[in-house]
Amino acid sequence: MSSHTEQSEASAETDVTVIGLGPMGRALAAAFVGAGLGTTVWNRTPGREGDLAARGAAVAPSPEAAAAASPLTVVCVVDYDASDAVLRRAAVTAALKGRTVVNLSADTPDRARDTARWADAHGVRYLDGAIMTPTPTIGTPHAVLLVSGPAALHEAHRPVLQALGGTHTHLGEDPGRAAAYDIALLDVFWTAMAGWTHALAVAEAEGVGARELAAFAGGIAAILPPLFTETAAETAEGRFPGDGNPLTSAASSMAHIVHTSEAHGIDAGVMRAAEGWARRAIGLGHGGDGFTRVAEVIARR
Ligand code: NDP
Repeated sequence: MSSHTEQSEASAETDVTVIGLGPMGRALAAAFVGAGLGTTVWNRTPGREGDLAARGAAVAPSPEAAAAASPLTVVCVVDYDASDAVLRRAAVTAALKGRTVVNLSADTPDRARDTARWADAHGVRYLDGAIMTPTPTIGTPHAVLLVSGPAALHEAHRPVLQALGGTHTHLGEDPGRAAAYDIALLDVFWTAMAGWTHALAVAEAEGVGARELAAFAGGIAAILPPLFTETAAETAEGRFPGDGNPLTSAASSMAHIVHTSEAHGIDAGVMRAAEGWARRAIGLGHGGDGFTRVAEVIARR
C-alpha cells in the first residue's frame, strides 16, 4: 500500500509507524502488519518487537527514523510524560513536520490539549485518541477506539486506522474530548474493579469462594447497563427518582457492607466514601431521591 499512499511533504517507506511496544502498542502494530500495511516500529527499550520483525515490520533504529518512515505515526506509550519524552525531542519533532500523529496513549484531557497545541506550533498534524478495549480485541470487530481533533484529518487516515478493527468514533474537534470520555469510562471501570476486588475479600472472610461469588456477581453486573441508560436519561432531565431504591435505603445497605468488612478487619474506605456521599445528600433533603443525586452533591464546591 505504501506505493499508493499520497504524501504532501516528506517521503515515506511504510504506511504507518507505531511508537511504543508495550502490550497495546504490540497489538496495534500486529494489526497493521496483519492488514498488509507497511509498518515501522520503535520502542525505547530495544528488543520488545516480539515476532513483528519476522512478520515484516521494520524496526527503526531511532524515534526520528521511526517518525520519518511513515506519513502516520501512532503513539502508544504509558502516558503523556512518556509521549512528550519521545515526540518533543528536536529530531523527532523535525521529522514529524507535515506528518500526522495519532496519540493513543492514555492521560488527562488537559495533557491531550497541551499536546495538540504543541503539535500545532510545530507543524505536526495531530489527533488524540483513546482505546476502550483490551489488547485481544485489537484487529477484531470488538475493538473500540475514540478519536478527537480535526475531522478531516481523521477521515484522511481512517483507511489505515481501520486496520485496528472495531468501531472508530470521532467525538469532535476538541482534542481533549477522547481523553474526557476515557477518564469518565475508566472511572466506571476502576470503581467497579475496586468493588469486585473488595467483594472477593469480604466474601472470602465469610467463607464464600471466589467462584461461588462469581456465579452470582454476573447477575449484579447485568443490572447496570439498563440502569446506566435509564439514569442517564433522568440525569439529563434533572430528575433523580428514588421510588425503587431511595437514598435512605441505599445508605443503610452500604452501612451493612462497611460494618461487615470492618468486623473482618477489611478496609472499607471506598464504601465509606460512597456511604458518606449518600448521607450528605440525605442531609440536604434528598433522602427520597435515587443514588444518582449524589453526583450533584459531590460536585458542589
Ligand atoms: P504500558 O502502559 O505499560 O506502557 C508501556 C510502554 O510505554 C512501553 O513501550 C514503554 O517503553 C513506554 N514508555 C514508558 N515510559 C517511556 C518514556 N519515558 N519514553 C518512552 N517510552 C516510554 O503498556 P500498554 O502497551 O499496555 O499501554 C499503552 C497505552 O495504552 C497506555 O496509555 C494504556 O493506558 C493504554 N491502553 C492499554 C490497554 C491494555 O489493555 N493494555 C487498554 C486500553 C488502553 P519501554 O518498553 O522502554 O519501557
